[in-house]
Amino acid sequence: MAESMAGLKRSHRCTEVSEAHIGSEVTVMGWVQKSRNKGGIIFVDLRDRSGILQLIFEESDCGTESFEKAEKLRSEFVIAVTGIVEKRSGAANENLKTGNIEVRAKSLRILSESEVPPFPIEENSKTKEELRLKYRFLDLRRPDIQRNLAVRSRVATLTRAFLAEEGFLEIETPTLIKSTPEGARDYLVPSRVHPGSFYALPQSPQLFKQLLMCSGYDRYFQLARCYRDEDLRADRQPEFTQIDMELSFVDVDDVLEVNERLLQKLFKDICGYELSLPIPRMTWKEAMERYGSDKPDLRFGMEIHNVSETVKDCEFVVFQSALANGGSVRGINAEGQGAMPRKKIDALVEYAKGFGAKGLAYLAIQPDGSFKSSFAKFMKEEELAALATAMDAKAGDLLLFAADKDKVVFDVLGNLRLELARQLDLLKKDDFKFLWVTEFPLLEYSEEEGRYMAMHHPFTMPMEEDWPLIDSNPGAVRAKAYDIVLNGVEMGGGSVRIHQSDIQSKMFEVLGFTPEKAQEQFGFLLNAFKYGVPPHAGLAYGMDRMVMLMVGADSIRDVIAFPKIKDASCLMTEAPAPVDEKQLKELGIAISETENQE
Ligand code: ASP
Repeated sequence: MAESMAGLKRSHRCTEVSEAHIGSEVTVMGWVQKSRNKGGIIFVDLRDRSGILQLIFEESDCGTESFEKAEKLRSEFVIAVTGIVEKRSGAANENLKTGNIEVRAKSLRILSESEVPPFPIEENSKTKEELRLKYRFLDLRRPDIQRNLAVRSRVATLTRAFLAEEGFLEIETPTLIKSTPEGARDYLVPSRVHPGSFYALPQSPQLFKQLLMCSGYDRYFQLARCYRDEDLRADRQPEFTQIDMELSFVDVDDVLEVNERLLQKLFKDICGYELSLPIPRMTWKEAMERYGSDKPDLRFGMEIHNVSETVKDCEFVVFQSALANGGSVRGINAEGQGAMPRKKIDALVEYAKGFGAKGLAYLAIQPDGSFKSSFAKFMKEEELAALATAMDAKAGDLLLFAADKDKVVFDVLGNLRLELARQLDLLKKDDFKFLWVTEFPLLEYSEEEGRYMAMHHPFTMPMEEDWPLIDSNPGAVRAKAYDIVLNGVEMGGGSVRIHQSDIQSKMFEVLGFTPEKAQEQFGFLLNAFKYGVPPHAGLAYGMDRMVMLMVGADSIRDVIAFPKIKDASCLMTEAPAPVDEKQLKELGIAISETENQE
């Protein structure tokens, strides 16, 4: 039977009790981690969110009633115990903060009992994630998840304090908004009062934060929940949290500067990491050419070399046709991997094919300096030697080459580089390598849509010197956009915004909006811009990703209290779920049969 708390007050969390309390009385409450009856003495490990404390029950200390209750204790029972702190009678447990002490119980209350949990509540659980997520309320009791959520809370608190100190105002923006489907798909919410009309859940507070700048709130931030109805992808959540900000009367450097100090503060206070400033910057073009990625992982080298010039006269048809088609030949040097077995190289070739490579050419430099290669027979000895020199290769190295259109080559080698780093265990989670990637292209051509799309969003400012190219070569126009990258993860990004109506109109035109369509979708912003708009810029962090990197978790699901799975459903609540016919009727919604429905 569950007892009450009447007359009881918790004096300490489990690990707040220490040797300093020896001889005094404490009252602790929590969950039974485990209980061992040694005949006449019962040991209980009590757990709360701070950690574990050992309790010891003997009938002579706690009386018959409490002792009999103690005999009934099972894992996950919730109990309250009052007792005296003493030095541990048995050997100290060095793994526990409270390993030198125990509490000799004087009284016990069972506040609630527990069924046998479907999996043990333990650190680094081996239980399948599916089961853990179904019982997330139990999974959340695990110490590693509790630590992650505590870090998350600290990130929020420190961010608020830092930004407030810097003169930012925390302002909430609405989450029932108008749908502006540029970018990902919107989640829609039907309106009952306006049948046939829908709100959208925001993909980000973008337009509202720009409006706040028009309204004079020159430094804004928000820990904003955002929603994107994207196709199934590993480690994406349909709803996620951004640390979102916007600043007026600034340019790129101002945004980066204040954010560098924010990152320095967060990583120092939370991870004990000294981030030295300024954070290095690299243009998008350089990042692609050196690392094949717009979010390069700088924890290791293995940079990409362009060898197009070196191989331009060779007879290897794969190289020749790539060059003839306007592509390039580039390679990476897996240093010291020259003896990699053929089977492993073949696996890398298959991996590369997954990113669109037709193949992968390799050249292994033997200890005696001779070459073993997939394409040696098409090359002269001196051409192979020139290639090795161009790749800074030495005896014992393995060179891997891709030849194709630049986009494919970058994608293949960028990913191959990461795969090799994983295989060679080069990625240390406590090594933090920050990088700003700048000067992103303004536009990206979408074959699917048959038009240019905004790479960041339609409000991003082009670089002044490139703007004249907007008609002749739109793809070459760079943007005042920047991403903050940490260990190969895009942790955040932002841009300077367009505040001139002529540039904004042109931008809409390039994106295929008629003036009417632009007015219909973004009229409120365009109108606001007519009444005095300050130059402004902003940035948003993916807070889930940031916390994931800080705690070294493998997935953002480990830093979100109640995450959804890949298909955007929640295993615990079973959302999304059908609703009553009555609810649908009120909304004027009829569900049509689709092929997928049973
Ligand atoms: N709204 C942008 C995003 O969600 C961030 C920004 O430009 O400030 O990516």
